[in-house]
Amino acid sequence: MNAQDIRNKYIEYFKTQKHAVIPRALMVPYNEPSVLFTGSGMQPLIPYLLGEKHPAGTRLVDSQTCLRAQDIDEVGDNRHTTFFEMLGNWSLGDYFKAEQIPWFFNFLVDVVGIDPKKLYVTCCSGFAEHNVPKDTQSGEIWKDLFASKGIDAKDVEIGSEENGYKVGDQGGRIFYYDEKNWWSRNGAPKDVKIGEPCGPDSEVFYLFDNVQHDTKWGEFCHPNCDCGRYMEIGNNVFMEYIRTKNGFEKLPAQNVDFGAGLERIAAAAIDSSDMFKISLLWPIIEKLQKLSGKTYEQHTESMRVISDHLRAATFLAIDGVVPSNKEQGYVMRRLMRRAIRFAFELGIEQNFMQELVPVIADLYQSDYPEVAENRNKVIDVLANEEKIFRQTLRKGIIQLSKLSEDGLTGQEVFVLYDTYGFPLELSVEEAYKQEIKVSDTWREEFDLLMKQQRERSQTAAKGIFKGGLGGHTDQHKKYHTATHLMYQALRDVLGDHVVQNGSNITEERLRFDFTHSQKVTPEQVKQVEDIVNEQISKDLKVSFAEYPTKVAREEMGALGQFGDRYGDVVKVYKMIADESNKPFSFEICGGPHVDHTLQLFENGKKFKIIKEEASSAGIRRIKAVLA
Ligand code: ATP
Ligand code: MG
Repeated sequence: MNAQDIRNKYIEYFKTQKHAVIPRALMVPYNEPSVLFTGSGMQPLIPYLLGEKHPAGTRLVDSQTCLRAQDIDEVGDNRHTTFFEMLGNWSLGDYFKAEQIPWFFNFLVDVVGIDPKKLYVTCCSGFAEHNVPKDTQSGEIWKDLFASKGIDAKDVEIGSEENGYKVGDQGGRIFYYDEKNWWSRNGAPKDVKIGEPCGPDSEVFYLFDNVQHDTKWGEFCHPNCDCGRYMEIGNNVFMEYIRTKNGFEKLPAQNVDFGAGLERIAAAAIDSSDMFKISLLWPIIEKLQKLSGKTYEQHTESMRVISDHLRAATFLAIDGVVPSNKEQGYVMRRLMRRAIRFAFELGIEQNFMQELVPVIADLYQSDYPEVAENRNKVIDVLANEEKIFRQTLRKGIIQLSKLSEDGLTGQEVFVLYDTYGFPLELSVEEAYKQEIKVSDTWREEFDLLMKQQRERSQTAAKGIFKGGLGGHTDQHKKYHTATHLMYQALRDVLGDHVVQNGSNITEERLRFDFTHSQKVTPEQVKQVEDIVNEQISKDLKVSFAEYPTKVAREEMGALGQFGDRYGDVVKVYKMIADESNKPFSFEICGGPHVDHTLQLFENGKKFKIIKEEASSAGIRRIKAVLA
């Protein structure tokens, strides 16, 4: 039975058990803004599990398309994909353990044809301190089911997951774990909030006995070991209790939430420890082999990543997501870009989406009409993103490999992100791959730069509306203000012969030329810095007014620039302390500036002169920073 058949048979089986078939929820939970994606079959049904009446009744079944972006790093192993389908059935205060466990067992064994000897289960060992008993009820049901197939199922008490690695599976079939087999929305029993439902769960695993246990996970293998020998295929959650102020009490109406990975069951059905060999994934891999001329055996991980990510992106596009730089669109972009990068390395360089998306659509369109309906639109969305990314990818990889020995810093990650649209995680991952050192603080640096950029773009946007501020960033304004303060400080220290002879400001520093015929000594430099920092710390108020030029220059002593000819009226910036009646700085200038000088100290910065040199005869040049 292939994966498509398993999906259909499951729905049919539960229909026979009087379940209403409900449509899948969109993968983007538009009315649940706290999560980006639907990650389980249970998620859209939470209100009903908490007591709301479901219009379709008390027995529900579906196949839910899920996206778990959090599993992205696990994609590449034998059994995780970011996109997968979860087969689910629910009892809303209807049937309980005695029906649920046999139904799923029979479905796996009698309908799908899985060898029951390969199945292993876990149950909850209970919590004495919370008066939650061991779930022997489920255990007994399992024991009888295995017995009905001639299997003597031995119980093994494991307790914690860590203990599992110490004691191993001991030839058991029914394993009792503690917190691993407990479900609540808040986690462990001690964390369950009053009024919340919770209860034991019982998981089903398929054993690949041809897979060798890998001791990197722990000494001995057990069902919850991550080596891939045991593969979890489904989980029965029994919402049996409610937390009250007196502890855990039985719920009057108990629920069942059941979820199983379609792809995992399909892998078990063909006894393949490699989930990518199933009918919903293998055709994608085959196409990749054809396009690249390379084999899956030699490029297993890349091909797994590509097939998963593009299947995910295809479904996101069907559900209305388009690649962008935020939220769901960002995840989609990241998945696509990662897939394209891996494909690029396999030598697939052209029209990748036009080739691959149709293969994916073919796998789903007879079961999901929305896939057929949106087929062309989806191909277009993905192909367009590919086009954009290929251009940036080439530039980005070249840029990354040119990095110096300092390795990759947050600043560079930011540039790659900002200039080339290179997703940050991708840059870091690429650096690791190319064995380029990555700075420990890249993330903080990056976040800070992002924050500053957001502030800048807000300022710029405001400026555009006011007219005239466009193009001036916060950083420019700060350096501009610092320039005025330094100009006055230089005159205070060196004398009134100091006149500005040009200046230049970037986001990184200010440069200032002025008339002075000797070197400025280190002591004088220090004095200038101290004056500027002292004035900044007084939080001078910065404002401007227009004056007749003659009044500004001759009566008020406004500073100007050497050789400049001014019109009849000039704009003069004034920087003055609250308690003072004489401005520290009074200078003819077009602006813009910060409003208060303390803004220059944001993020713990101080004014500092980093260079003093001759510029031309009688002209000195200073470079200074806020750092
Ligand atoms: P695992 O420990 O294998 O990551 P899980 O505990 O995260 O699984 P659940 O949250 O209980 O899984 O989800 C229910 C079922 O969905 C699992 O039993 C499994 O069959 C399937 N499933 C979960 N995550 C994935 C995934 N990333 N890819 C494919 N199937 C998955
Ligand atoms: Mg998981």
